Amino acid sequence: MKLLDLIEHHKRVNKKLQRNDVFYSFEIYPAKTERGELNLRKTMSKLADLEPLIFNITYGAGGSKNKDSLQVCKRAQQLHGLNTMLHLNVISKTRKELKELLQQARDSGIQNILALRGDLPKEGKTVDNGLEHASDLVTFIRELHGNYFGICVAGYPESHPESKSIEEDLKYLKLKVDCGANMIISQMFFDPQTFIDFRNNCRKIGITCPIIPGILPIINYKGFKAVVEMAKVHVPKEILEKVEELKDDNIKLVDYGVKLCIDMCQKLIEKGTVGLHLYCQNRFKPINRIIYGLNLRTFRCRRPFPFRKSTIKSRNN
Ligand code: FAD
Repeated sequence: MKLLDLIEHHKRVNKKLQRNDVFYSFEIYPAKTERGELNLRKTMSKLADLEPLIFNITYGAGGSKNKDSLQVCKRAQQLHGLNTMLHLNVISKTRKELKELLQQARDSGIQNILALRGDLPKEGKTVDNGLEHASDLVTFIRELHGNYFGICVAGYPESHPESKSIEEDLKYLKLKVDCGANMIISQMFFDPQTFIDFRNNCRKIGITCPIIPGILPIINYKGFKAVVEMAKVHVPKEILEKVEELKDDNIKLVDYGVKLCIDMCQKLIEKGTVGLHLYCQNRFKPINRIIYGLNLRTFRCRRPFPFRKSTIKSRNN
């Protein structure tokens, strides 16, 4: 199902039940090793039990290929009955490859794509496919598949590091939406006000689609430093100091990261966000603490699949 339809459905059901209607989505990346793959399967199964509205699967982490991302999407859908969003970037594939991938995604029942340009390589070339920006990919998908896919694009509350100004970046974000994207997921940020200002600025220039804040819980020192460095986002001094103070005590660091994340999400909820997009870093426990800490997950509903023999027996008796 497309994310926009899922959000509508989620709102309706929760309104009826008089429950909080803020949804959450989880972002994970394909594993790099066989062991990682086994761990990911277990983690995904547990994350699935938290019933996110959708699972996003990145492309490119640790050299992963779109094929890996597609496999993870398929597994999430088939084994866990989840809706998924496949990330796709334009810089490393020919038009033919992109066309094939989109068809495979469609044949696998995937209905959501996060259309990205991808990070430019420090060395080497990008594929000369005539598609330079995420907006070109959005147009490409719409031309090939009409409205079959729900298309999300990336937005940058602090503006993209390559942009000359916030205004210029917003102009191109609007272009992505005008080309056919129906939702925006934001880059991470560590001050909720940054996101709120960004959302207001988007509205001022006529971007009306849902804008979902992307949130990176700090749950691993090295991972945090690497991601923040790569994304070139601002981290307030007091957060940086605390993270440095706790860097050798991962338990305390996770406690701090979980609390910080809950505080940030609460502020965003107060300011009317429709959803939260959590960069899960392929971890379950801290994410579980965040979802329960926010009181967004008030019931537990285990899917009956895969059936255990004992379950079938007792049902038959
Ligand atoms: P664009 O929208 O193309 O923007 C890139 C730059 O070009 C910006 O400065 C923009 O202002 C400018 N620009 C845009 N359109 C035009 C235009 N028409 N003419 C001139 N300038 C223009 N990367 C991955 O490789 N794999 C992933 O799975 C992945 N997942 C992500 C998930 C999220 C939620 C986010 C926020 C980012 C993700 N990224 C991922 C990172 C992303 O690929 C990089 O940030 C990349 O540098 C820019 O991608 P984009 O789609 O925003 O590019």
